[in-house]
Amino acid sequence: MKVTEHIQNANGKTLFSFEILPPLKGQNIQSIFDAIDPLMEFNPAFIDVTYHREEYEYVEREDGLLEKRVVKKRPGTVGICAAIQNKYGVDAVPHILCGGFSKEDTENFLIDIDFLGIHNVVALRGDAVKTETYFKPEKNGHAFAKDLVEQIVKMNHGTYLDESLENSACTDFNIGVAGYPEKHMEAASLEQDIYHLKKKVEAGADYIVTQMFFDNQKYYDFIEKCRTSGINVPIIPGLKPITTKSQLSMIPHRFKVDLPNDLVIAIAKAKDNKEVKEIGINWCIQQSKDLMKNGAPVLHYYSMGKSEVVKRIASEVFKD
Ligand code: FAD
Repeated sequence: MKVTEHIQNANGKTLFSFEILPPLKGQNIQSIFDAIDPLMEFNPAFIDVTYHREEYEYVEREDGLLEKRVVKKRPGTVGICAAIQNKYGVDAVPHILCGGFSKEDTENFLIDIDFLGIHNVVALRGDAVKTETYFKPEKNGHAFAKDLVEQIVKMNHGTYLDESLENSACTDFNIGVAGYPEKHMEAASLEQDIYHLKKKVEAGADYIVTQMFFDNQKYYDFIEKCRTSGINVPIIPGLKPITTKSQLSMIPHRFKVDLPNDLVIAIAKAKDNKEVKEIGINWCIQQSKDLMKNGAPVLHYYSMGKSEVVKRIASEVFKD
């Protein structure tokens, strides 16, 4: 079923979902099942699987010269999605990027997942790779997520790049896109970012999933601004429980989101990461309960493979 159909069928009840990362290359898919199994009792409506493009590394050769090598650290998004749908019967939502994909690669990726019975995707631009200062699209690829959404919508209407596919059946993807309650790091202002978010929705995005936030008021203000600007699709809040002290600096640095002062002070006072984890879990439980009370369609957890943490939260929030 499509993500937006899950939301419609829930009749206002808040759904549970989460995101997982493919395991590091060389590891076993069992680690994915081990992360999902404890969360199945909360009936996830869907499970997102992130996509990780290849990175470039400079490796010293025997002759002393540096050679640029391609490394893909977390392959397997498509295979994991297929395995999830087969094993659990839960809708899997692969993320797909502009970065690293030509338009032909995108078409082939979408044909693959369509064959596997996957009908949900989150369309993203992706970040710059480590060797770039700014994001660079692939040759004959897309520069912005909006352009990727347009290509998916065209396929949903039976228009393929490969003209020999002209009479093929249309795909039927439900499309999610990213939204940023505290604005995307490259956007000049939140208003500009919402302007571009609206373009993604006008291009055909069916729903929005937000970047993590730790102050619910930021999400409520974001929703109000989106609605005022004419964005009417569901906006799913993304939630991440803090579990280590180092995340106090890592999260604002990497994701450009603020942490509320009360949370920072409580974590700074904690004597070890065991205590930090308790504070992070309790904070996330309070956030979740408040979001649920205020009608969030889905609570979407960035689990990062820490299912015991998400389980603790879901046990409190999704009791019935
Ligand atoms: P876009 O919507 O294309 O926006 C990028 C920037 O360009 C924004 O600042 C926007 O305001 C601006 N912009 C948009 N259109 C225009 C235009 N026409 N002209 C000028 N400026 C414009 N990354 C991964 O690598 N893998 C993942 O699986 C992944 N999953 C994610 C899931 C979620 C829910 C979120 C919130 C992020 C995820 N990311 C992932 C990170 C994401 O790829 C980055 O945040 C990326 O920098 C932006 O992607 P986007 O789709 O929001 O880009």
